Amino acid sequence: MVKLAVYPGSFDPIHLGHVDVIERAAKLFDTLIVAVFVNTAKTPLFNESDRLHMVREATKHISNVSVESSDDLLVRYVQKRGAGAIVRGLRAVLDFDYEFQIALMNKKMAPDLETIFILTGEKYSYLSSTLVKELASYGAELKNLVPTQVELALNEKFYRNRGSV
Ligand code: ADP
Repeated sequence: MVKLAVYPGSFDPIHLGHVDVIERAAKLFDTLIVAVFVNTAKTPLFNESDRLHMVREATKHISNVSVESSDDLLVRYVQKRGAGAIVRGLRAVLDFDYEFQIALMNKKMAPDLETIFILTGEKYSYLSSTLVKELASYGAELKNLVPTQVELALNEKFYRNRGSV
């Protein structure tokens, strides 16, 4: 039985689609580690410590969730932590190819490790961090898309940016 699982992501920033996946995955395992990863392929809007802080705040109501960050290779990190599964969220067909490729590669590197896919909550199927950032850059309403403290952080970031132009 898998007791410990890891939900990795960039969480730049965390949004309610992520929180929904975390709440549902937390019911499947004794402990769920949400791991904020430094993704070298993406330049983040928020630095690692801000992302970590926002994920902690957004998940503090779930008692069996802990939040960490890592810049290690995912499978190595998961093995070091002694976890038996990786949790990923799946939105549409768009996510599938990429997630399928990563899951198979991870399975090749760590055959004992399972990847568990949680289907997006229906009302969050269109939601992505990229979309949230784009909306925020236009000063659009973010309620019901991100946790309150993320909305404040986004407003502050883009307000500052606008102010400096
Ligand atoms: P990454 O850079 O690893 O893709 P993200 O922070 O964008 O990190 O996403 C982390 C995980 O959450 C991924 O598995 C992604 O598919 C999933 N995810 C993102 N948005 C949603 C959503 N609206 N519903 C369900 N899962 C999602």
